[in-house]
Amino acid sequence: MDTIKRIEELKSLINKANYEYYTLDNPTISDYEYDMAMAELIKLENEYPSLKTADSPTNRIGGEVLDKFKKVTHTKEMKSLADLFSYEEIISYIDTIAKTTNSIDYSMELKIDGLAVSLIYKDGFLIEASTRGDGIVGEDITNNAKTISSIPLSLSEKIDIEVRGEIYLSKSRFEKINKERELAHEELFKNERNCAAGTMRQLDPEIVRKRGLDTFIYYIVDPEKYDLKTQSDALRYLKKLGFNVNSESRSVHSKEELLEYISDIDEKRFDYNYPIDGVVLKYEYFDMYSRIGETVKNPKWAIAYKFAPLEVKTKIESIEFQVGRSGVITPVAILSPVLISGSLVSRATLNNEDYILDKDIRVGDYVFVRKAAEIIPEVVSVIKEERSKYLKPFSMIERCPKCGEPLLRKITEADYYCLNKDCPARVIESIIHFASRDCYDITGLGDKISEFLYNEGFVYRISDIFNLKEYAQTLLTKEGFKERKVFSLLDAIEKSKENNLDRLIFGLGIRNVGKKVARILCEKYPSMDALISADEEDISRIPDIGPIIAKSVKDYFNDERNIEMIDILKENGLNMIYTSSKKEEETIFTGKTVVLTGSLTSFTREEASQIIENMGGKTSSSVSKKTDYVLKGDQAGSKLTKAENLGIRIITEDEFKEMIES
Ligand SMILES: [Zn+2]
Repeated sequence: MDTIKRIEELKSLINKANYEYYTLDNPTISDYEYDMAMAELIKLENEYPSLKTADSPTNRIGGEVLDKFKKVTHTKEMKSLADLFSYEEIISYIDTIAKTTNSIDYSMELKIDGLAVSLIYKDGFLIEASTRGDGIVGEDITNNAKTISSIPLSLSEKIDIEVRGEIYLSKSRFEKINKERELAHEELFKNERNCAAGTMRQLDPEIVRKRGLDTFIYYIVDPEKYDLKTQSDALRYLKKLGFNVNSESRSVHSKEELLEYISDIDEKRFDYNYPIDGVVLKYEYFDMYSRIGETVKNPKWAIAYKFAPLEVKTKIESIEFQVGRSGVITPVAILSPVLISGSLVSRATLNNEDYILDKDIRVGDYVFVRKAAEIIPEVVSVIKEERSKYLKPFSMIERCPKCGEPLLRKITEADYYCLNKDCPARVIESIIHFASRDCYDITGLGDKISEFLYNEGFVYRISDIFNLKEYAQTLLTKEGFKERKVFSLLDAIEKSKENNLDRLIFGLGIRNVGKKVARILCEKYPSMDALISADEEDISRIPDIGPIIAKSVKDYFNDERNIEMIDILKENGLNMIYTSSKKEEETIFTGKTVVLTGSLTSFTREEASQIIENMGGKTSSSVSKKTDYVLKGDQAGSKLTKAENLGIRIITEDEFKEMIES
C-alpha cells in the first residue's frame, strides 16, 4: 500500500530534519517544507490511525491530558551528587580519589540548574521518560518529554540504552514566560528551575510544549556496554546518538587545570543563557568506578562543586507595609543593614502574606537575604535554629496603615488591597507615578515634593498638577521653595503637556496598563477620545491585550470622576493625540534576512531567531543572494562557505550581541 510507504518517507524526512536542525544545527530543508511534511503526516495518521507508530514525530505535538502521573521504578537508582563548597574541599576530594586511581583525570561539566530526567530507549526508540523522584521511584513524564524538541524520539543507532540528564529552561525563555504572565496578571515563577519543574508537573503536554524547555544529556547507564572507556567518550557518543550535549565540558588531567576550569566558569557563570549553580567533576575512567565506590546516597566517582550563593545572613528588625498606587499592600522587612555584593541592604521585600507564612518569617528572626543584579532584595529563608522562643508568628494587618480602611484580599490573588480610592498613600503614589520618567517625566516632581504638595492641599489628583501655576505665590512662601525651584518645576509641568499620548495613558495608572500596553493601545486608538469610546470586545482582540486589560480600560473610563479629570487635562492643553513612534524603532535588523549556522553559546537557534524577528528582521534556513547576514556559531557548516563565496557579511556571536544591544 502506497500510504504506508508515504508515511515512512515523511517520518524519516521529518526525523532527519529535526536531527539536522536541533543537533547538527545544520538543516537541509526549509521551514516551509518541514511544515508541509508535518501537516501531510498528521492528515495521513488521522485517516489511518493504525499506521501511527510510537516514534512518529507527530507525537511531539501534544499528547493526552493525564489525571495523574504513573510511578516508575528506576532500573538503576538515580543517586544525586554530594556537594562541595570550597577549593580546600575539592583538593581533599581529588587527593582521596587519587589514592585509589593514582591519577587526576576528570571530565569537568557544568551543573545545570534544572531537573534530572532519565530516558529509556528500546531499539533506538524513546519508550519512557521519568523524573528522579526519591531516586528509586520517579514519575512517568513520557508524554511531556516527547514535546521537548531536543529529546530525540529515535536515535541514530537501533540500540537499547538508558541515559540521564537535565531538563532546563533558558533564561530568555524564562523572562518571556514571566513577562506574559505579568501581562495576564498571573503569579510569576521565582526562577528557571522552579518554572521548569512546574512545567514538567503539568498534566497537559500541550502546555509543556509551549513553554519551550530544553535538555542537556550527560550520563549513560552502564556505559561499558557500548564499548566506552571514559566519560568524555560517553559525552561524544551521546552527541552522536542525537542528544543535546553541553559544549562547555572539558577533560582535565591535573589539579591546576581542574581548578582553573572551575574559576573560569565561576567568573562567567551568569553569562550563559541557561542557569548553572556549579561545576561537576566526574572521574574519567569507568573501569575504576567500582573501586572508587558509592555511598548509600551518592556515587564517589563524581561530585558537585557549588558556587557561593549571593546570600547574606542578617536580622529582621521589623515588618512595614507599603501601599502601592493600585492599593496593593506589600510587606517589607526592615533589616539590620548588611553588605551584599557591594551594596548596603536594609530593606527586603516579603512579597505577600502567603510568602511570609510559607517561610514562617517572624520579626526578630535571623534570615538569609539575597540580592541579584537588578532584583529587589528578598528574604530567602529563616534560620530556625537561631530563633528565640518568644517570637510571635506573623499575622497580616487588617486595616490600611495609611488611611485605616479595612483591607481586602482578592480570592484569586495572594495580595491584600486598600480599596479606598482617596487613600493618601494611593493618591501620593499615583502622583509620583504620573510624574516619573517613564510616564509624564516632570523633572522636579519627585517623591518628597509629591508628598508635600498632597499634604499641603495643592495636589489631590493628577489634574491638579496643571493648576499649580495659580498657586505660585503661595508656594513661594513655603519653606525650602526658592524662586528658582518653583519656576523650574512650573516650566517642567508646562513643557510636559506636549508629551505623546502613550505617556499620559501609562501615567493615568489604569490597572494592568503598563508602558508597553499603553503604547499598543495608542497604536490602535491614536487619540484620547478614540480610546475612551473604544469597544471592550475590540480592545480585547488586539494582540498582547486580552480581556483582563480590556476590562480594566473600560472600567477606568466608565468612572465619571476619571472622565471629568481628563476633561480638565484637555482644558489645560495636554496633548491628546498619539504620534506613532514606530519609525524610531527601526533597528539594525529591520527588513534584513539572517541565516544562522553552527551552534551559539549564549542563545539557542530559536532564541536568536526570535530576537531577530522582534527587531524586525527575518531568518531563513538557506543562504542566497538575498541573505543580508550570516550569523556564525561554532562548527559552522557548508552555509558559511556558501556565504563567503557570495560575499555576504558574516557576523560572529559577539558581533551579534553588540548589534542587538545597539
Ligand atoms: Zn488606604
